[in-house]
Amino acid sequence: MDIIRIEELQIFAHHGVFPSENEKGQHFYINAELYVDTEQAGHTDALTDSVDYGAVCSLLSEVMTGQTCKLLEAAAQSCAMAVLRTFPLVERIVLEIRKPEAPIPMAFRSVSVQIDRGWHKAVIALGSNMGDSRAYMTNAVTALRNSEEFRHITVSDFIRTKPYGYTEQADFLNGILLCETVHSPHGLLRYLRSLEQEADRKRDIHWGPRTLDLDVIFYDDVVMSDEELTVPHPDMQNRRFVLAPLVQIAPYYRHPVSGLTAAQMLERLHD
Ligand code: ATP
Ligand code: CA
Ligand code: CA
Repeated sequence: MDIIRIEELQIFAHHGVFPSENEKGQHFYINAELYVDTEQAGHTDALTDSVDYGAVCSLLSEVMTGQTCKLLEAAAQSCAMAVLRTFPLVERIVLEIRKPEAPIPMAFRSVSVQIDRGWHKAVIALGSNMGDSRAYMTNAVTALRNSEEFRHITVSDFIRTKPYGYTEQADFLNGILLCETVHSPHGLLRYLRSLEQEADRKRDIHWGPRTLDLDVIFYDDVVMSDEELTVPHPDMQNRRFVLAPLVQIAPYYRHPVSGLTAAQMLERLHD
């Protein structure tokens, strides 16, 4: 993708672990790569079709001077999120903050933190079969809608389904949510777990009754597996309660391993 680059933007701010840094302040330097599709702007020559780097610099300055962080990591996170939220054409930002006047009693040129953030497509499955299922699921959707780390949220209808696996329990309400998120796959799982916990979820029986279950079905075209997380969800192609609502909102979505669309996976399901 095309890149708009900002180099060595100087901003006087007060971030640092030491109180003296917060009082006196020092110079910070920002380098940023903004990943933007500039093809349209290349043809129209109109600023409205691209990203105004002057406005990006002003925003970075506002964010850097409007708060005091201990860590460069936190300052960088705030800067990246502000740019991604304010300029929807920025798909990804690589942002470095340098701090050449850091209080280190040795000779050095600079210290810096660089982060890489962008919008990723994710598909999340929602399920519940305890208490007010619709309310638990609607609350989770509202939390995602109110979080700055999500955008472009589409939600399927919620459908009633018979329990899967452990069948001695109440019917489930199931749905699918399509979104873009700035979270990494593990960051997304962590966030979804925090929403499950807010819904008083207790973990006892595997596949047993629960107030809220949020699973990551797809994350871009990522194929990965570790102790915590497997993406795509390994059983999604066998579950009507995942595929039916997915087909309703994203029939074209392709499984990155089998290459089948959601609609094709649903067609092939025998249950
Ligand atoms: P299933 O994943 O078969 O639907 P479940 O949702 O009932 O089962 P949980 O008890 O909710 O299972 O989760 C068990 C663990 O599965 C979680 O703690 C999480 O670390 C792990 N896990 C692995 N891959 C995923 C994924 N794609 N989405 C959500 N959790 C996952
Ligand atoms: Ca599940
Ligand atoms: Ca789960």
